[in-house]
Order: sequence, then C-alpha cells, then structure tokens
Amino acid sequence: MTSYVLDLPVPATVPVEGTDALFPVHRIYCVGRNYAAHRREMGGDDRDPPFFFAKPADAVVPPGGVVPYPGRTSNLHHEIELVVALKGGGRDLTPDQALDLVYGYAVGVDLTRRDLQNAAKDKGQPWEAGKGFDASAPISAIRPWTGAPPSGTIAISVNGQVRQSASLEDMIWNIAEIIAEASKLWALAPGDLIFTGTPEGVAAMVAGDEVSGQIEGVGELSFRIAP
Ligand code: MN
Repeated sequence: MTSYVLDLPVPATVPVEGTDALFPVHRIYCVGRNYAAHRREMGGDDRDPPFFFAKPADAVVPPGGVVPYPGRTSNLHHEIELVVALKGGGRDLTPDQALDLVYGYAVGVDLTRRDLQNAAKDKGQPWEAGKGFDASAPISAIRPWTGAPPSGTIAISVNGQVRQSASLEDMIWNIAEIIAEASKLWALAPGDLIFTGTPEGVAAMVAGDEVSGQIEGVGELSFRIAP
C-alpha cells in the first residue's frame, strides 16, 4: 500500500439527496458570462463566446458550513448558479453525448471578490484571487437526475430581498453545450463540478448577511456570511 509523506484531508465532498453516501469533488470548473443580461452588466458584448475558469475542489462549502467574509476584499459578490455534478468523463464530447455524464444538479454560489477580479482584468492577470479563494463555492446537496436538465427559475435573496431572479432558459449555452465545450479543454472526469454561470443582479454582501438561493426543481441553499 502506498504511503504518503504528509497526511492530507480526505477529498472535498457534497451531500446527495436520498442517501448518506457523499459525492467526492474532483475539480470545479465555472462558466463566465452565460446569461446575456449579466454579460452586459459586466461590460461584455453579446457576441463574446463563454469561457471557463476554475476553483480548487476544496472551495466547496456543503450545507451548514461556515462561509467567512474573506480577506483582501471590500466587494464580495454573490453569483447564484446551477451546478452540474458529473459521474462520467471523457474528452471531445458532442452535446448529444454530454448529458450521459450527469450525476445530478445542485444550487451553488460562485462567491467573487469583485474588486480583485476587476483589478486582475485591468492588468491582464489571472482570476484565482478573485474567484478561487477558500470557501468560495457554497453548494446545496446534489439532486440525482436523469433526462432533460432543469429549466425553471433561479434566484437568490440576501436578508429576504431578492437580488437575482431569472430563468435557466436564459442561458446562452445550455448544459449539454457547456459540458461538450469543457470536454474540448479538459478530459472531464467523475467528480467534476461545473458552475454554469449567473444571471444579472450580482451585488455585494457584508458579514452577517443571510443568503438564500433556490433553483426550481433542484433545491435550495442557505448560509450566513460570518465575520
Ligand atoms: Mn460565476
């Protein structure tokens, strides 16, 4: 049996509805600007192709976990997103093949240090400090799923006030297309999560805020921003 020179934590995990068994997280990919109105509020052009960035696997915060207000920012934004959890993998997939990889869906929040992201954009620098920080991916339990992807309402409230509310049908690239496109860039693998982009209405939160996200047919997610 292989031994290791360091003891590391077991893989990051997300609970699954209907079972005590956990979903092990391999990698987290995220789609940028996949809803037209949000693309415009970020200063993009409707013809820009969507693109991907990543977060560390252990950025996930399962339900009930603590989401601390991160350091080095004074502009922490919420981005409510449908998350796809993969049970299969492959490369260079077609959209027709893509949905066979899906284990289930979850509600996620792509937490963003917007000031650091904007500074990185201005300087042509990478986005990890703005996007891939500790506890930057709160997520609900995963709902196992077969067939056509969710298509209902996606929304998030802060202290009871709705901040973002849209239809999953407003996505520019649909779930099958996102998986297929990602598989051209990476060999996708079981345990990968893909955050599929956020609609318009991203805004700042402060410590003490109560955050509640919902996706029709998928589930809901609540957390408090701790000091
Ligand atoms: Mn996002």
